[in-house]
Amino acid sequence: MAPAEEPRGDELEQKERELALLKQRMALLEQEVADARRRQQHAAASTTAQDGPPPPRSFACSHSLSKEHVQRYSRHLLLPSFGLSAQERLCQGSVLIVGCGGLGSPAALYLAASGVGTLGLVDHDVVDLSNLHRQIIHTEARVGVHKATSAAQACAALNSLVKVNTHMDGFNPANALEIVRGYDVVLDATDNPTTRYLINDACVVLGKPLVSAAAVGTDGQLTVYNYGEDAPCYRCLFPESPAPENCSRCADAGVLGPVPGAMGVLQAVEVVKLLGGVGDVLAKKLLIFDALAGRFTTVRLRGKRTECVACGLCPSITRENLAAYDYVAFTGQAPTDAAPSLSVLPPSLRVTPQQLQGVMSSAAVSGRAPPAVLDVRPANQFSLMHLPNATHIPFEQLDAKVEEVKDLIRGSKCVECSGGGSAEIGEQRPEAGLYVMCRRGNNSQLAVARLRELGVLNAVDVVGGMENWAKSLDPSMPVI
Ligand SMILES: [Zn+2]
Repeated sequence: MAPAEEPRGDELEQKERELALLKQRMALLEQEVADARRRQQHAAASTTAQDGPPPPRSFACSHSLSKEHVQRYSRHLLLPSFGLSAQERLCQGSVLIVGCGGLGSPAALYLAASGVGTLGLVDHDVVDLSNLHRQIIHTEARVGVHKATSAAQACAALNSLVKVNTHMDGFNPANALEIVRGYDVVLDATDNPTTRYLINDACVVLGKPLVSAAAVGTDGQLTVYNYGEDAPCYRCLFPESPAPENCSRCADAGVLGPVPGAMGVLQAVEVVKLLGGVGDVLAKKLLIFDALAGRFTTVRLRGKRTECVACGLCPSITRENLAAYDYVAFTGQAPTDAAPSLSVLPPSLRVTPQQLQGVMSSAAVSGRAPPAVLDVRPANQFSLMHLPNATHIPFEQLDAKVEEVKDLIRGSKCVECSGGGSAEIGEQRPEAGLYVMCRRGNNSQLAVARLRELGVLNAVDVVGGMENWAKSLDPSMPVI
C-alpha cells in the first residue's frame, strides 16, 4: 500500500486556516449556548418572583418615612437633637414663603432640601438680570420667567418629594387669608412695609407663626413674630409705619449679595425648628447681623402690646375686616419693592431727557458751550457713568457748595438767564441755566427745590434721571 502523500506546503496552510475557522465557530457556538442558558435562568427567576410571595422583610419599623426619605434625610436622622420624629413632623409640615427674592431664594432651597412637606411660593414679579447677584434660586435661562414658577422649578429639581404650590398673583388683602390659611408657618421674605403689615395681620388673625427677616446694605435682622406666650407681632413693635423716606430698600441703598442669603438661610433654620419642634425659636428676640464686622448680636424684644390693633386685647383688625383694610393708606407706600416716584416740582421746572439732549445738540451745532448739567448722585454712581458735560456735586453737599453751583451756571455761557430767573414754583419756567440729574428723578427734584431756597432759581430737573435717559435715549448705557 502506497504511503499517504505528504500535503504540499500550500495545502497545509489551507488546512490550518480551516482549523482556525472551526475553532472560532466553536467558540461562538459555546458563547451563544451560555447566553441562552443565562436568559433561561433569569426568566425562571423572574417568574418565581412575580408569582410567589414577596420575600420576608428582615427589619421592623414604625414610622412614616420611606426608604428614599431615610436615605435623603439621613444626616438629619443621625442628629441626636433632631432625629426621626422631628423629620417626620417636618415632612408633614407646610410653609408659605412670601417673596421669591434675596431672602426667599435660599430659604426655599433649604426648606425643599430639608424635606418640608408642602412649600408655598408667592410672588408677582418676573426674574430680572439685576436679581441674580443675590436671588440664587433663579438662573440666567429663567430671566423673564415668573419668579414663583422659576423658584418652583428649582425646588422640584432639588427634591421631588416636596409638594410645591405657586401663588402667582402676589400677596394682597383680598387673597391673604385664603393663602395663609393653608400653611403651618409663614416666612416673610418681602422688602416693603405695606406687605409686611399685611402678612403680619394675616398671621395674627389666623394664629400662624411668622418668621421675618430683612437685609439692606451690609446688615441683616431676623425674628419670629406671633409665636409663644406674650410674643409680639410686627405691629406691637412698629404701631406706626415708618415714613417712606426712612425706608431703606435694596433698590436704593444696595445690598451685599450674601447678606440676604445668610438671613434667608437663618429663616429656614427657624422654620425647621418650628416645624420639627426642636430648639429655642427666636421669638421675643431680634438677631442682628453686621456683615462687615462679622458679628451676630441678639437683643431681647418687648412683649405683646396690649393696645395692639392686631394682637392686643381689643383688636380692630379681624378676619372679617382684614380684606378691606387700606394698607397703602396706612403706610403711604405702594406694596412693591421698587422706590416710590416723587412728584414735588411743577411741570414748569422739569424737562425730559429728550429736551436736554436737544439743548445739548443745538449748542454743539452752533458752537456754543454745552448747557450746565449738575449730577447729584453719590460718587460711586457718578463714576460708573455720567453725561459727558456733567459736574458732580452729591445731593448732601449742595448747601455747602451752592457757590460752586452758581459759578457753574455763570460759566455755562447761558449768562442771559443765569441767576436772573425770578419764577417761583408753579410759574412759567425761565430758560434753564442748570439741568439737575440724579438716578431716577427723585433727588433731582429735591435738589432743584433746595437750590431755589438757596437762591438758584433757574435750575430744572431732568425727569426720570439717568435711568430714564438710558431707557429713552441710549439703551447701551450701563445703569444701576
Ligand atoms: Zn401686636
